[in-house]
Amino acid sequence: MKKAYKLILTLLSFFAIPNAFAAVWTIAIDPGHGGKDPGAISRNLNIYEKNVTLSIAKELKAYLDKDPNFRGVLTRSNDYFISVPHRSEIARKHKANYLVSIHADSSESSLLRGASVWVLSNRRASSEMGQWLEDHEKRSELLGGAGNVLASHNERYLDQTVLDLQFGHSQRAGYELGEIVLKHFAKIATLSRSTPQHASLGVLRSPDIPSILVETGFLSNSEEEKKLNNRHYRKKLAKVIYDSLVEYRKAHIKSEKKYATTSTATSNVKDSGIRHKVQSGDTLSGLADKYIVMMKDIQTLNNLKRNTLWIGETIKIPDNGKNTNTQKREKNNRTLNKSDSKTSPKYHIVKKDQTLYAISREYKIPINNLLKLNPKLKNGHIFVGQKIKLQD
Ligand SMILES: [Zn+2]
Repeated sequence: MKKAYKLILTLLSFFAIPNAFAAVWTIAIDPGHGGKDPGAISRNLNIYEKNVTLSIAKELKAYLDKDPNFRGVLTRSNDYFISVPHRSEIARKHKANYLVSIHADSSESSLLRGASVWVLSNRRASSEMGQWLEDHEKRSELLGGAGNVLASHNERYLDQTVLDLQFGHSQRAGYELGEIVLKHFAKIATLSRSTPQHASLGVLRSPDIPSILVETGFLSNSEEEKKLNNRHYRKKLAKVIYDSLVEYRKAHIKSEKKYATTSTATSNVKDSGIRHKVQSGDTLSGLADKYIVMMKDIQTLNNLKRNTLWIGETIKIPDNGKNTNTQKREKNNRTLNKSDSKTSPKYHIVKKDQTLYAISREYKIPINNLLKLNPKLKNGHIFVGQKIKLQD
């Protein structure tokens, strides 16, 4: 059992979150179709989607390779056929942090036009995950060499936890990147959809690599086919995708850094060791009065970005050097938590959009410990308001 938990942790640190501080991000660029599969064929100019996508992909690779922060890897570099699973495999082999698949749309109606971005759908993610769990070979494919080890321990829910965290992360990351791509696309093209769409198209089934699929325009629309037939326009499209990746990377690193600095800023406000469990009627100013501290200090110490308190959450009380009496009174009142009077809280109440992984990071408690403390979390699913035990 312990071994398996350790393995989860190793796997998570190995591939769960692309390291924001990693010097180089590898981007797998996937030119849609190829060889015997031409993709869409335009009406008037008779241009093939497979050629348009390859051209844009090569331009994108050139932009990425010029930037020391990136490395571009093509899933195909010429006009030949590759199956969809093989495309993900190539990306995986190159340890790609992200995958961008490039396509051009087509429709019965010549009026339809505009670009769109597609990301892994939730339903697809779940069904795909179920299949991967059933299928030993596929499971090994995802988990790499460690998959065989995992397959042998026979604890299905541990695999599921790993895959779950993986899918969740890939989906969120793909969606965020997709939003940025659309924002940049809007500068040079019409959008057929203004937000990333969820789908189970092509390569969007890899749970281990955040992926987006970009439909660059409609080959069935005479105006857009003309544009897509133009090399300068294709280069512009590549530049727009490149700019999006740059922006996404910057935002990613900024938020990581912010996270690091907030953690240190917190230490400027001293922790009294007192823990207050919020009850109905408690307010921030009420707590400040009760413990003779500043509201701001409570917020800083607890990294609170809101002015309201949630019933059941545990609030760390700052030390102001004056509240020894309060402290004593509190200590006498306390019947629980005697052992943790110095540092960490005993429970965490799940907030909106929080994942188990985020909680693990917030308290610096490894996922395996959280799972051990909370056996009910078998599959890693948590919900808002749920109480997560942080220590015995
Ligand atoms: Zn296509």
